[in-house]
Amino acid sequence: MPDTWVIENAYVATVDAGGTEHRRGHVVVHGNRIAAVGAGPAPEQWRTGRVVDGEGCLLTPGLVNTHHHLYQWITRGIAQDDTLFGWLTTLYPIWARIDAEAVHDAASANLGWMALSGCTFTTDHGYLHPRGGGDLLEAEIRGAQRIGLRFLPTRGSMNLGASSGGLPPDSVVEEHDEILTATAAAIDRWHDPSPDSMLQIAVAPCSPFSVTGELMRDSAELARAKGVRLHTHLAETMDEEAFCLEKFGFTPTDYAESLGWLGEDVWMAHTVHLSDDAIAKFGATGTGVAHCPTSNGRLGSGIAPVRKLLAAGVPVGLGVDGAASNESGWMSEEMHQALLFARVKDGPTALTARQALALGTIGGARVLGRSADLGSIEVGKLADLALWRVDGLAGADIQDPVCTLVFGSHLPLELLLVNGSPVVEKDRLVTADADDLAAASRRASLRTVGER
Ligand SMILES: [Zn+2]
Repeated sequence: MPDTWVIENAYVATVDAGGTEHRRGHVVVHGNRIAAVGAGPAPEQWRTGRVVDGEGCLLTPGLVNTHHHLYQWITRGIAQDDTLFGWLTTLYPIWARIDAEAVHDAASANLGWMALSGCTFTTDHGYLHPRGGGDLLEAEIRGAQRIGLRFLPTRGSMNLGASSGGLPPDSVVEEHDEILTATAAAIDRWHDPSPDSMLQIAVAPCSPFSVTGELMRDSAELARAKGVRLHTHLAETMDEEAFCLEKFGFTPTDYAESLGWLGEDVWMAHTVHLSDDAIAKFGATGTGVAHCPTSNGRLGSGIAPVRKLLAAGVPVGLGVDGAASNESGWMSEEMHQALLFARVKDGPTALTARQALALGTIGGARVLGRSADLGSIEVGKLADLALWRVDGLAGADIQDPVCTLVFGSHLPLELLLVNGSPVVEKDRLVTADADDLAAASRRASLRTVGER
């Protein structure tokens, strides 16, 4: 008999297409899917389930993180005042020392932290695979299974070393053919295409300045043959634009287009520097965007044109990006930053609290190709839910619960369900011991970075 959860008396923000909200509503979860949602108490037929009193709480869809590098959790606080290219060249030699054990510890700790910030579904972009380091993709998948989050890791890659005109040192890049072989094997081993899937794989050569055009093209062909999604970094900095113009004679977007890299099965991290013409191309092709405001702020890269992207119909989700360029890594904070950055760029009506919540939920689900089953609270959808306490010191006096979540400070989580199973209860991780995760990631950091 599947478990049933009955959440009542909560302010329910469904984030459905009509923006339906219930000031005092219920949601029933039966097994891994949502069985009922509406105003007032739950229907009598469900009252045999586990009842959670949501008085003083806001219920939202679980947050979706569309861009990340989990391994970076153990290399935070380095190159604090650098540009992207300076930061990367400082960190590449450190990252060359990572191995499967370090990645498992980093990913487990990082995912535990993300769960506490309301995230139920995350991607990851692991593009370093040092020789002799073991299977880093498996290491992070085991971490996600341990914490209990829905996961879409990519098999990332780099093959354009410094000796060939790329940014990374030759010591951290792989060969073209071994990348494609390992990527195909990862898809065959791990990718579950079912609607209930807890684990899918995407293909993700790292960036225009660290992979060859040939690898970009062949990666797209492989992904399309296998029916999986494509991901990369694009248009993050003006340095990247200058690199693309000099080396390829294209802007980053035109370069991507020339390689078959615009389409509904593609999502790009950052897209800070896009012309109106490039935005129109994203909109016309349905190419998705992972907007990473904190990371862009941390590295001083600029501000993505979110308002224009949304107006052009571009699917936009939020990403914390790697922990080495976002030491916080707190998913709900990303909605706050998205709202502030949009308003710094385009004024006070550029983005509302509801739009920011939509970016963090249904927008992310759309970007990752899962909006039929995730991203909003609707009957029949998967039960990935976050129940936030808004009646404590941080938020009790803010007039609107959605404003409390997006404009306000960190909120405690009363409950986080992923696929109908609890991952956080009473603001504590229930799938792993948070102190154990922190101790293991600190040991991994000491091994990888050295004494501080
Ligand atoms: Zn990134």
